[in-house]
Amino acid sequence: MVTAVPVAISARGQRVDDGSGPAGGDRPTEPQVMPVDGPLVDRFGRVHDDLRISVTDRCNLRCVYCMPDEGMTFLPHSSLLTFDEIERIARVAKALGVSSIRLTGGEPLVRKGLTDLVARLGSIGLEDLSLTTNGMLLGTAAGPLAAAGLTRVNISCDTLRAERFGLLRRRGDLGTVLHAMDVAEDAGLSPIKVNVVLLRGDNDDEILDFAAFARKSGRIVRFIEFMPLDAQGAWRRDRLVPGQEVLTRIGEVYPLEPSDDHDGSAPAERFRFVDGHGEIGLISSVTQPFCAGCNRLRLTADGAIRNCLFNDDEHSVRHLLRSGGSDDQLALLLRRAVWAKLPGHGINEPGFLRPTRSMSMIGG
Ligand code: SAM
Ligand code: SF4
Repeated sequence: MVTAVPVAISARGQRVDDGSGPAGGDRPTEPQVMPVDGPLVDRFGRVHDDLRISVTDRCNLRCVYCMPDEGMTFLPHSSLLTFDEIERIARVAKALGVSSIRLTGGEPLVRKGLTDLVARLGSIGLEDLSLTTNGMLLGTAAGPLAAAGLTRVNISCDTLRAERFGLLRRRGDLGTVLHAMDVAEDAGLSPIKVNVVLLRGDNDDEILDFAAFARKSGRIVRFIEFMPLDAQGAWRRDRLVPGQEVLTRIGEVYPLEPSDDHDGSAPAERFRFVDGHGEIGLISSVTQPFCAGCNRLRLTADGAIRNCLFNDDEHSVRHLLRSGGSDDQLALLLRRAVWAKLPGHGINEPGFLRPTRSMSMIGG
């Protein structure tokens, strides 16, 4: 059954096509009525089965591409969704076809009792339940998290040089993060993905070191382009290192070939070393947007559904839940949020406006 449901579409839908969206640019696929059953689908036919849940906007580090050293203001605890609320939303999302959930933040491991939340989410029968973390608290948490049902972990680590760690992340230390990777592997959370945000002039001289690290460790190193999502608004295009450049520089030393496993909706383009020793990923969100295959929606720590990192139109689930909303109303809210999604993020358009919330406030 398909029923017409009126949906407000943002004025930012007027964007010109910058190639980041689905084939056909801004033209939605027909019909222009929102289905009220079947999978979570948007106006461009993209099915959404991947939910990113931020459990906190707080963090124990202050990475230069994410937050200023001082002066961040954080949500009061009362604004955060409770674990009961998160579990309820996850169950409704699963009934709508969501099969993969990733917990993030801020730093998700600074939220007390995260293992309990993992156990609750683990019990709802997802195909994939993963975590993105800076690794500082993972050494002690990895075993319990794996036992609770976590399937995978992504660990951010932007340098392999101990003396540089403080310059990029301002707090914490490299040894703790590398140790956490070992512990996570021992706990069965492998293959580990290592997220590296490259900043021109700060750590792009480590591209080959990271390639060698991927080859030696079997960990999948993913090079991420710096996006205009830092809280201090310091992003400049000339500070990002394009994925194509990374591919060329590594390929000259260690030949690479595209990996057959590439999943069209995954942000990372995957490449394996021709000699069979490991693989890397490129997340080229700015220079080669992957919006056309985007399958994800996000839940912020304070209970807003966002259909894109770059679209400020939020749909408050917290308000709905705390005013006695039913699961059916919750499902409709999720459908509306997805249906309202724009074709692309528009970073490369002349009129691009940075979103008002930054990466750690949304959930990366
Ligand atoms: N604190 C955890 C961590 O750092 O892994 C999880 C949250 S963090 C916001 C999620 C991912 O976003 C990390 O891999 C981080 O490197 C990345 N990130 C943060 N700010 C970014 C930016 N401005 N551009 C690109 N990636 C960014
Ligand atoms: Fe914290 Fe992650 Fe942002 Fe770094 S990237 S400041 S670890 S939330």
